[in-house]
Amino acid sequence: MQPVREGLFRACDDGTARLLGGRCGECQRVHFPRGETCPYCSAEDCSDAELGPRGTLWLYTSVLRAPPGYRGDVPFGFGIVELEQGARVISRLTEADPARLRRGQSMRLVVDRLHNDEDGNPVSTYAFAPEGE
Ligand SMILES: [Zn+2]
Repeated sequence: MQPVREGLFRACDDGTARLLGGRCGECQRVHFPRGETCPYCSAEDCSDAELGPRGTLWLYTSVLRAPPGYRGDVPFGFGIVELEQGARVISRLTEADPARLRRGQSMRLVVDRLHNDEDGNPVSTYAFAPEGE
């Protein structure tokens, strides 16, 4: 599948994915997406860091109506996941039913189909799936 944008994530052979983030050489904190400047201490000493695949669900909701410009399926899950490396990221969730999600749930990063392009080819993005599914 074609990624929705280059440089955001990488698919792994085991079906999981990694976010292409950055690690600050000064404060050692990680961030996503990758930036030249650390969002925590403003140092410009950031290097590449692959983040995930495990995380913990912090907040979640179900998006029932398509946001402007969005061409994928609705409803879809959306939430904040704290990565095992410490950063919190806003992400699509593979589970759209809030009744099947809970705060503190173990999640894993996967590649998910976002929509099909004009030629009918699938376009992928990263998403968090409940662990064990
Ligand atoms: Zn920093």
